[in-house]
This record gives sequence, structure tokens and C-alpha cells, in this order.
Amino acid sequence: MKDLVIIGSGPAGMAAGIYARRGGLDTTLIEKVSPGGQAVYAHSIENYPGSYQVPGYELMFSFANHLEKFGLAPEVMEITGTELSGKVKLVHTQSATIEAKAVVIASGASPRKLGMPNEGRLTGRGVSYCASCDGNFFKGKVAAVVGGGDAAAEDALYLAKICSKVYVIHRRDSLRAQDIVQKRLFAMQNVEMVWNSVTEDILGEEKVESLLIRDVNDKTLRELPTDSIFVAIGQVPNTGLFAKEVSLAETGHIIVDREMRTNVPGVFAAGDVTVKPLRQVVTAVSDGAVASYSAIKYISTEF
Ligand code: NAP
Repeated sequence: MKDLVIIGSGPAGMAAGIYARRGGLDTTLIEKVSPGGQAVYAHSIENYPGSYQVPGYELMFSFANHLEKFGLAPEVMEITGTELSGKVKLVHTQSATIEAKAVVIASGASPRKLGMPNEGRLTGRGVSYCASCDGNFFKGKVAAVVGGGDAAAEDALYLAKICSKVYVIHRRDSLRAQDIVQKRLFAMQNVEMVWNSVTEDILGEEKVESLLIRDVNDKTLRELPTDSIFVAIGQVPNTGLFAKEVSLAETGHIIVDREMRTNVPGVFAAGDVTVKPLRQVVTAVSDGAVASYSAIKYISTEF
């Protein structure tokens, strides 16, 4: 039996891994796709202390290298189910069942979809959820970014350096992005803010040709010609697998206390998957450290 299974290898999971291994826990770190989580897609991270304007993938690569120094590498496998309520926790994957004394859930979040009729059909044909992955396909072309948070503002800034024109479509008349990012965005000559507007549908047969938007004040509908649409309207926590066992908030995030304990003894959660006021790399790593610290304490008293 393992001491600890960590689910997810974004910043929270990797920090949890470093603290668990330093604390002497026999640990398995499970990852569905590849290490780094959503942070990998950040064009530039400038608010993680010690890293100024570092591409997200570079920072995550250094996390993974650091983790390896403590003898831990993420194992890529898909979890099919969990049984967390017993003293011995069971994590089922497609190929095996892992038994552990404690579990840290750091499964992160996935991009929220707009839910427009043609969104699915045109995803990969102009509709994208990752500006740093797909922005280059639209060099010199027109882009529309939907959203008003940090992700939307940063995506728009990134795209403004590549594309001829960038529209930012937001449902209100002010952004919630950090002030410094807003100022940079408003200074870009080729960025046009489209305030108080919601998206109704995407038009185009083979690829995106335009976006249908409605003004929320006068309810008028208009077609905005664009080659691409970058959706940045927040994240949905990856908690589907644990919903029956662990208490969730209405938003779907896992409820934790200050020690990153969930309602289930021996089960901890960290990072974007949890209820928290600020979702950043710096808070994710802090969560991960606390979660493993708490797991070490739990194991030493219960086993
Ligand atoms: P977010 O802060 O939740 O913002 C989502 C934005 O999308 C909001 O402006 C929201 O509008 C809008 N929105 C939500 N649902 C919508 C819908 N159905 N239709 C149209 N618009 C919709 O999400 P985020 O920007 O992905 O950021 C997530 C977290 O990561 C935040 O805590 C953020 O600070 C952090 N983050 C930090 C950085 C950084 O520090 N460098 C970079 C990226 C993200 P309203 O404003 O009207 O609610």
C-alpha cells in the first residue's frame, strides 16, 4: 500500500509531491495528460515570486525537474473511479487499483464552454480555448476573445501581438482582470472592446467566419466578422469523479478547511479544484504544500 496518492500534476499536485517526498511518504502522482496543468498554457507568468515574465510551460518544466530531484515523476493514467471513505483509500485506473493511506486531490479545472449551438462543431476550426496553443494559426488575421477576467485580458494581449485585430467581447462594461493587465490591454491600438455583449452563435460552414453577438442593453443582434474565437470565460473544476464522496460547493469546487482537509478523513484537496478566493500558481503551490503537510500528520497518527 502507498502512503499517498496525489491526483493531478499541476502546480498544486507537484508542490504536494515535493512536500510529500521530503516528508518521506511513498507517493504516487497520477496525471491524466501531461504535467503542469493549465499553467502550461499561460503565455507569460509574472506574478510568481522569483519568476518574472516566464512562459508557463517553462515554469512548469522547472517544477517537474524539481519534483524529479525527490524521486517522483507523474505517472500518466486515467482514473476510472475512487473509493475514499474507508481507512484504505482505493484509486481505480484503467489498468490497476492503487491502495493508499491518504489522497490529495489536485485535479484542477477545465475551460468553461459558451454553450453556443455551433461551438462544438467549429472547435478546432477557429474556436479555441487556448490562445497560446492556437494563436499562431491566426497570424495577421482577426481574433475575438470572449470573457472579462485575467485569462481573457492576457489572451487578448497575446493575440494583439500576432493578429491584425482583436475584439474583446464582454457581457458587462468593465473587466475583472487585474488593473495592470487592463492598462496594457487598453493601450493596444488593434484591440477593440465590445462591452455589454453576449455571444449568441458562431457562423461558418468549414471554419469560423463570424460571431453573432447581442447587445444586452438594446437587445440588438449583429454579426462580427472574425477568423477565430478564443473562449476565456473561466474554468469548471474537475470534480466529477469525486462528487459522490467529497463535499462540493454549489460551484462544484471541493470544500476544504485551512489544512486542506475535505469532509472525508485522509482525503485532502489543493489548487484550482478547491473553493478559494484566488486561483494562481502561487496559491496552488501553497495549497499543495499544506495538503501534504496535513497528509503526513494524518498518516502518522492514524497508521
Ligand atoms: P474568471 O476570473 O472567472 O473570469 C471569467 C470571465 O468570463 C468573467 O469576466 C465573466 O464575466 C466571464 N464569463 C463567465 N461566464 C460567462 C458566460 N457564460 N458568457 C460570457 N462571459 C462569461 O476566469 P479566468 O479569467 O479564467 O481566471 C480564473 C482564475 O485564474 C482567476 O482567479 C484569475 O485571477 C486567475 N488567472 C490569473 C492570471 C494571472 O494572474 N496572470 C492569469 C489567468 C487567470 P463577469 O465578469 O461578468 O462575471
